Amino acid sequence: MTQAATRTFDVPTTHFIGGQWAEATRTFPDHNPYDGEVVFEIAAGGRTEAEQAVAAAAAAFPGWAAMPPGERQRLFLRAAEIIEARRGETVGILAVETGCSATFGHFQVSWSSSLMRQSANWGYLPQGDVLRSDVPGRFAMAVRKPLGVVAGFTPWNGAFNLAWRTFALPLAFGNTVVVKPSEEAPVSAGLLQAAILEEAGFPAGTLNVVTHAPGEAAAIADVFFESRAVRCINFTGSDKTGRMLAERAGRALKPIVLELGGYNPLLVLDDANLDNAVDAATFGAFIHQGQVCMCTRKVYVERAVHDTFVEKFAAKTRSLPAGDPRNPATLIGPLINERALSQIEERVRGAIADGATVVTGGSREGNVYAPTILTDVPPEAPVANGCEETFGPVVVVEVVDSAEEALAKAQDTPYGLSAAIMTGDQQRGLDLAQRFDAGIVHVNSATMAGEPSLPNGGVKDSGWGRSGHYAIEDFTEIRLTTLTSDAGHYPF
Ligand code: NAD
Repeated sequence: MTQAATRTFDVPTTHFIGGQWAEATRTFPDHNPYDGEVVFEIAAGGRTEAEQAVAAAAAAFPGWAAMPPGERQRLFLRAAEIIEARRGETVGILAVETGCSATFGHFQVSWSSSLMRQSANWGYLPQGDVLRSDVPGRFAMAVRKPLGVVAGFTPWNGAFNLAWRTFALPLAFGNTVVVKPSEEAPVSAGLLQAAILEEAGFPAGTLNVVTHAPGEAAAIADVFFESRAVRCINFTGSDKTGRMLAERAGRALKPIVLELGGYNPLLVLDDANLDNAVDAATFGAFIHQGQVCMCTRKVYVERAVHDTFVEKFAAKTRSLPAGDPRNPATLIGPLINERALSQIEERVRGAIADGATVVTGGSREGNVYAPTILTDVPPEAPVANGCEETFGPVVVVEVVDSAEEALAKAQDTPYGLSAAIMTGDQQRGLDLAQRFDAGIVHVNSATMAGEPSLPNGGVKDSGWGRSGHYAIEDFTEIRLTTLTSDAGHYPF
């Protein structure tokens, strides 16, 4: 089944199309972001493989859509078991392919198996409504139908669990899927999942994966937009790419689900449990080196508790073990590539030049950037202005004089993914939460607190679309069906 088993991992490294592992005509090296070592040689596909994958998904669609929910449920539950059985291997691959700590690796595995268990039941959700009609003798139904082939783009950051999200949701509602994984994580964001679904016995063609070399995504995307069989695009990634693909989707008149970036604020009010707030800030800002869409980018702290909060936050941040993520104790691994490191270095240098204070961090060792807390950052600095996602372990702390000031400042961003409020007064927290213009607001949790069954998703420039069973809105369409028993209701 495998094209090239590399190093210690026996995983497929070539396209999965119509239930077969295709021959790779070209390959590209997939590097460990920690030390640059080549971990896998991956098939470099393009237009031809994408066309084959779409054709395979289209051929598999009628059978999959018609499969009774109980049969689909058994397959999803079997996949969940295999995800758990392959936990150690997955955590190892995530470490060497994406620089992911064991902590976040285990989180991704648990999230993914839970998602598959949740989705196992979604075939049993109500499939529509019975409607009233003004025509005598007419019975009207709004019947939910799967769309057909859904084409997915996966990111490299939450490589394993977000790839599962990209195809489990459409599959659960009866669609078949083609996926183009990120070139930074082709194994953990697509091929590994295909191997698991193959092992679980999913029918050939239900999930198809086509990998590509860096800079060659466009040829595959072209096929997704041009093919009439592809009825929906499901994208998780940056707002820059999402905007470009949404423009194309508009021209092609295809619906597109967009799960994009965020600039996620954490509000620490003067009545908060400060230790809890410090834990939420540290986890929220630095999980996976700050490379999660829901990571905390700015903490607004009420003046009365600001200095104590910063002191405790800095102490906890300094204690985070950094280095090679193959060491299970490591919490802060490398950034994904040199481009990401350079952007972080430039943003922090710029902020310092503008007058920012580095409370802790601000340096790199190899490809690992130290978790960094900045204060006194001018509001217009790119790292603090709320308009640009700084996708790494850098967080800005700003003092405020009231919760109202914090709320107003925290909303001053084009993004609207996740926000969090730390307060000892639950009613105050709920009141503020209702006024936040964001897809997700947590009271007394970190900005990164998603669960697979809950409707995660953004508003404004963070995109649209919701996960959990709410995804039925995105991955089905309504078929109006009527049955009329009385004749003679026509006007002529
Ligand atoms: P990205 O936009 O660079 O890439 C995402 C996907 O798009 C990848 O598969 C990539 O190969 C593809 N792509 C990139 N350029 C393309 C092009 N020109 N044509 C066709 N496809 C193209 O994002 P990334 O760096 O992989 O992921 C990080 C970003 O994703 C961050 O902005 C993060 O906030 C966001 N994200 C959002 C969520 C969410 O649920 N809202 C989850 C994870 C990541």
